[in-house]
Amino acid sequence: MGPHCSFCGTFTGPFSQAEGLFTVLICIPCLEIRQARPDTLLGLHDPGHPWEQWGCPIEGCGKWFPGPWDLEGHTAAEHPDWTAIYELLRPYPNQRMRVVYRRSAPPAAGARSTR
Ligand SMILES: [Zn+2]
Ligand SMILES: [Zn+2]
Repeated sequence: MGPHCSFCGTFTGPFSQAEGLFTVLICIPCLEIRQARPDTLLGLHDPGHPWEQWGCPIEGCGKWFPGPWDLEGHTAAEHPDWTAIYELLRPYPNQRMRVVYRRSAPPAAGARSTR
C-alpha cells in the first residue's frame, strides 16, 4: 500500500497532512472541502483494509464499515447531530469516493427547542 488519501483513498498526490487523533495524509481536493467548511468532517477511507474500508470520523466512535453507504445509515442512527452524504467523485474504474459529514441542524443560539 503506497501513500494514499485517508478520506477518498486516492493514490494521486500531492498530499498534505491532517492532524487528528493521529496524523493522516489528505489529498488537496479533500483538504479544500475541510477548509471551506470548518464544521465538515470526512469519512475515513482505507483501501488497504480487506473488508471494512470506511471509518466513522466522529470523535470517540471509531467504527468501520464495508461500504460508504453504511456510514450514512450508521450516522443517521448513531449521530443524529450529523448527516453523512456519500459522494461518488469518479466512476469505476479508478473510483474515487468520499463521505462528507455535515452538522444536520446547526443549533441557533438561544433557539434550541429540545433539551
Ligand atoms: Zn482525498
Ligand atoms: Zn460513528
